[in-house]
Amino acid sequence: MQHVRATYIDGRWGEGSGPELEVGSAADGSVLARFRGAGADDVERACAAADAAWPAWAATSVADRVDLLRRTADLVAKRADELGSVAAQEVGTPVRLASTVHGHLVAATVRDVATTLEAYAFEERIGNSLILREPIGVAAAITAWNYPLYQLATKLVPALAAGCTVVLKPSEVAPLTTIAFFEVLAEAGLPAGVANLVVGTGAEAGEALVTDPRVGIVSFTGSTQTGARIAELAAPGITRVTLELGGKSASVVLDDADLAQAVPASLRGCLMNNGQTCAALTRLIVPRSRLTEVEQLLAEAVAQLVTGDPRDDATDVGPVASAVQRERVLGHVRGALAEGAVLIAGGPDPVAEAPAGGHYVRPTVLRVEPHLRIAREEVFGPVLCVIPVDSEEEAVAVANGTDYGLSGAVWSGDPDRALAVARRLRTGQVAVNGGPFNISAPFGGYQRSGYGREGGRFGLEEYFEIKAVQL
Ligand code: NDP
Repeated sequence: MQHVRATYIDGRWGEGSGPELEVGSAADGSVLARFRGAGADDVERACAAADAAWPAWAATSVADRVDLLRRTADLVAKRADELGSVAAQEVGTPVRLASTVHGHLVAATVRDVATTLEAYAFEERIGNSLILREPIGVAAAITAWNYPLYQLATKLVPALAAGCTVVLKPSEVAPLTTIAFFEVLAEAGLPAGVANLVVGTGAEAGEALVTDPRVGIVSFTGSTQTGARIAELAAPGITRVTLELGGKSASVVLDDADLAQAVPASLRGCLMNNGQTCAALTRLIVPRSRLTEVEQLLAEAVAQLVTGDPRDDATDVGPVASAVQRERVLGHVRGALAEGAVLIAGGPDPVAEAPAGGHYVRPTVLRVEPHLRIAREEVFGPVLCVIPVDSEEEAVAVANGTDYGLSGAVWSGDPDRALAVARRLRTGQVAVNGGPFNISAPFGGYQRSGYGREGGRFGLEEYFEIKAVQL
């Protein structure tokens, strides 16, 4: 157990003035770190520092900001294994994946922001008007515990690139990799006050940040419920908000799809990071005529998964991040079984072979009807819902039949048919026949999955004011 300092304000590390907080290990429940959380007065100081640093930062050249981001990316890449091993404990990500998603992917994303910035046209002409993009000012970023660094790389990093200064409040459930990232920013030479860190609770530090009058934009990742609260808090100040919220994304398998490819890939898309992924493919929509084959493939694939200690190289599915989250996930599974879901694999029993005290959930596959609660609500754990349908038309209707719209997938032997279905899905991203994730593509939600976009040019543009000068 270590004692950490969890505020970084105006270039100085310090103790917060808020409550004493603990970071628990997802793997075995032990205490990884203790710290004094940030209080409202720390947030106030952080916003003041960001506001004071803003004019000078906004005046830096694009080339200087690009250089700084590239130095940051290199330092993150160097520390990828260490970041992965910390995230394996605080988030539960299996270590085999952790240095990639909490390290190298983050470095690649920071590098991508630098490349986007370097090529970006800040000015253009429309008739007699000169159009200028100017940084909004102070950006507030609030992140969740599932991919703390990736979220930081798609909020704080483009904000800095645009010329904004930042105050970041990560989730206090898993703040340790974020603290390491701020060490990296300091080492890369970021001037004091340009990026400030306040690790505290949502109720105190989060609300103080969203309502601070100096904040020009709030970028949030987390639950739909908290996103709605943030939009409400930001409204009186007419503060801009971008919300990256939950999902219930569907993988639509058409009747001519290669099941041997589509089914395991969809399962991986659901279980990545133990199901703690906003874009997880948590619904598998399949033709009823092929249901038996699909369920057999799923049962076989789940039987081969190693569920257990995330620090172990052999582990495929680790624990969820907290005891609270484990109870939420198990509550969903038990509720679904009581409502009539059919258990295909896994279930709510404990994982006997996993370390005591950890927050383990068996990878679980359920056959459900689309009206069941578990088929409509975000579970955020390793739980896949199989939904049989009788036609392509019904598959599209079921896929579009939740309040969310973040991600999705379509599988067909005919790429044109798959693309035609992809066009009909009401969702921010769709992968056709396993099309890989693209860090430069816009990422964000339709409906209650939120608004605003992250990634590439679209992500950078969230942090600009636009001015038209008539000549
Ligand atoms: P929240 O949405 O509550 O938390 C996300 C972030 O918002 C955290 O930093 C949190 O701080 C902060 N926060 C909470 N309340 C406020 C507030 N009133 N004002 C400002 N900031 C606030 O998610 P939870 O961690 O509670 O998880 C609950 C559920 O949310 C999960 O089961 C999952 O379904 C969903 N979720 C979805 C994510 C996604 O990527 N789509 C990510 C995480 C969760 P604090 O940690 O102190 O509460």
